[in-house]
Amino acid sequence: MAIAVDTLEPIRQKVEAGERLDFEDGLALLESDDLLGLGELADLARRRRGGGDEAYFVQNLYLNQTNVCRVKCKFCAFAVTQKQPGAYTYTPEQIVEDALSQRELTGFTEIHMVGGESPHVTFDYYVEIVRQLHEALPDVHLKLFTASEIHHMTTLSGLPHEDVLRTLRDVGLSTLPGGGAEVFADRVRRLVAPGKESPEIWLETHRIAHGLGIRTHCTMLYGHVETYEERVDHLLRLRALQDETGGFMAFIPLAFHPENTVFERRGWKHTAGSDDLKVLAVSRLLLDNVDHVKAYWIMMGMPLAAVALHFGANDVQGTVVREEIFHAAGARTETEQKIDELVRHVRDAGRVPVQRDTFYNELQRWN
Ligand code: SF4
Repeated sequence: MAIAVDTLEPIRQKVEAGERLDFEDGLALLESDDLLGLGELADLARRRRGGGDEAYFVQNLYLNQTNVCRVKCKFCAFAVTQKQPGAYTYTPEQIVEDALSQRELTGFTEIHMVGGESPHVTFDYYVEIVRQLHEALPDVHLKLFTASEIHHMTTLSGLPHEDVLRTLRDVGLSTLPGGGAEVFADRVRRLVAPGKESPEIWLETHRIAHGLGIRTHCTMLYGHVETYEERVDHLLRLRALQDETGGFMAFIPLAFHPENTVFERRGWKHTAGSDDLKVLAVSRLLLDNVDHVKAYWIMMGMPLAAVALHFGANDVQGTVVREEIFHAAGARTETEQKIDELVRHVRDAGRVPVQRDTFYNELQRWN
C-alpha cells in the first residue's frame, strides 16, 4: 500500500524553526497541489515574522505620462508607437492639472506613475514632471517610474543611473514602483521582452536607489512562458538583493493578462485563481526578508484578493484611481475601489483594515 508523503512537512519544520527556505523548497512548494496547506504555511510564516491581523491599503492615484514605447514587450497591451491612434504624451502641466482635479475628488496620499519608454522625450521632461508635481502637491508621496524607465532616462541623457536617480530625488521623487522586473531568467526575457534591459541592470538600478535612500518595490510578472524553476530563481534573486540593501518595502506578484497581446491569438488564458494564490504563498515563504506582500486586487479582483490575505498577503494595494495598464490587457476589475467596499472585503476575510501611507505608517484603522 502506498504511503502518502506530506511534501510540505519538512518545509513546515523549517518555517517553524525560522530557517531559510532554499531553491528546492521553493520548487516543492510550487509543485504541491495542497493549496490550503500552502496558504496555511504562508500565513504561519507571515505571523512568525511579526505579522498581525492588519491588512493594509493606501489611497493612491494611478497616472501614466505616456503610452508611447520603443520596447515592444510581447505581453504588453498598453504601449503604442507615436504614430498609432490613441498615442498620448502628457506635458508636465497637463499631468499636474489632472492630479489636482483628482485631488478634489479623492484624498489620495500617493501618486503611482509609470509609462512607456518614449524616445520622443528628454530627461528634462521627467525632471519637470517630478518637480511640478512636488511643487503642486507637496504632501503627496511621489512613487514614480520603474527601474526600466530610469534606465531609459540614462540612455536619453547620457548620465549614469546614480545621477538620474539623484536628480529626480532632489526634485521630489520619493520611491520607485517595482515594475519592469518581469521574470529575470534570460530564456524568458528573450521570449517575452527581448527589447528590455538585462535583469542585472534592473537589479543594479534598485541597488543604487537603495544606496541613495530611495526605497523601492519589487514584482514578478508570472503566468506566461516561465517554468517553476524560473519563478523560484526570480524570487531568490530579489531576496539576495534585499539581504544586501534592505531597500524593498513590498513584493507584488503580477499575473499576466493575455488580452490584446500576441498571446491572446495563441489562445492563452488568464492565470487560474489557484495559481495566483500559490504564487502569493510561495513568495511569502521564500521572501523572508521582505515585510509586505501585496494581493493586487486590480489584477485578481477584490474577492480573491481578500482570500489571498490567508495566503501570505498583508496588503491589498489601494483605492487605485484609474488603472490603465492591466485593463488594456483585459483586467475585468473596476478601475477604482471605493474605501468602504475595500474595508468590507477585508473585514469579511477576518482581517483589520488599516489605511497606510506609502511607508506603512498607519493613517486610519477600522476595528
Ligand atoms: S511593458 Fe513597459 S516597456 Fe514593455 S512595451 Fe509595455 S510600456 Fe513598453
